[in-house]
Amino acid sequence: MATGFLWHERYMWHSTGIAAGQIPAGGYVEPDNHIESVPSKRRFRSLVEVSGLIEQLAPLAPRYADEEELLRFHTRDYLAAVKSMSDAGYGDAGELAPIGPDSYDIARLSAGGCIVGLDAVLEGHVRNAYILNRPPGHHAEADQGRGFCILANVVIAVLHGIAERGLQRVATFDWDVHHGNGTQKAFYDRDDVLTISVHQDNYYPQDSGAMDERGDGAGLGYNINVPLPAGSGHEAYVETVRRVVVPALERFRPDVIVVPSGFDASAMDPLGRQMCISDTYREMTSLLMEAADRLCEGRLLMCHEGGYSQVYVPWCGLATVETLSGHRTPAEDPYLPDYLATLAGHSLQPWQREVIDRAAAMIGDIK
Ligand SMILES: [Zn+2]
Repeated sequence: MATGFLWHERYMWHSTGIAAGQIPAGGYVEPDNHIESVPSKRRFRSLVEVSGLIEQLAPLAPRYADEEELLRFHTRDYLAAVKSMSDAGYGDAGELAPIGPDSYDIARLSAGGCIVGLDAVLEGHVRNAYILNRPPGHHAEADQGRGFCILANVVIAVLHGIAERGLQRVATFDWDVHHGNGTQKAFYDRDDVLTISVHQDNYYPQDSGAMDERGDGAGLGYNINVPLPAGSGHEAYVETVRRVVVPALERFRPDVIVVPSGFDASAMDPLGRQMCISDTYREMTSLLMEAADRLCEGRLLMCHEGGYSQVYVPWCGLATVETLSGHRTPAEDPYLPDYLATLAGHSLQPWQREVIDRAAAMIGDIK
């Protein structure tokens, strides 16, 4: 069965405005492009096409998430505020979450893309799927946008799956360099959604992502944070999946696995300070697929999140989608030999192992 691939040109028309990095232009900040911009995603899509991989994939078309679907997580007041800023053509949905013309509709199309992807996987039209959507979603909370995210795409898709598709147990594993705070918050007191996030320690958002955030009430034990120290690379990430994520999935036995997939833990990312390479994503994807095969008939959905290196996101993305589809194209990551030869930090360091050991010890709380 094929791998689904979802992309829509309109995702690229979400405008994050005039900024420098993530800071709005003005005062002493010279106008430039906002760092959450089009090129990393468009070039990922282009490489999937030019490498020939796209011919092996099943195209999926997004739809707009409707208000009922959004209200499963977001508040009515928040949605109204986003819509009015979008109609005005500018605004901030909360904290570092810029809105441009039509951003409300484009964000609904982004969330709807994840819903379509989940449905396609659950209905068996595709074995697994990659949703290359924008704006991203994993920082968005019920009543505010944060960190470039407006609507909580993955949360909305998972809640749709539970409400409309009879899902009993869903696992999410967020490998974006930032903490998946929105996903964590959405399911913090529930034991039917296991949320796992590996991220750079003490980074963004500052108010979440610590290891002692384990869940509340029935959800206690069903949230696992693995805050790796800055400088963690290939071995630390793969070891996290081997020793924490896969064993947690084995205990939880999900109906489907959903990955908020940011490529900003790559060694070339201008925001993150981690050292992952395209092979890191290849290997993590492969381990997740093996787990999905054993546990849930291969059902695995990946939804795009961050990743700000215009030149390297495409190679991390290609490696991921190649692995999902089982087709290796002739396009070899040209940056890889240099990275493997010159960058330190790929081997597992004792201070990284200590974090992974502590996270692995928490898995026993999953019933
Ligand atoms: Zn990120």
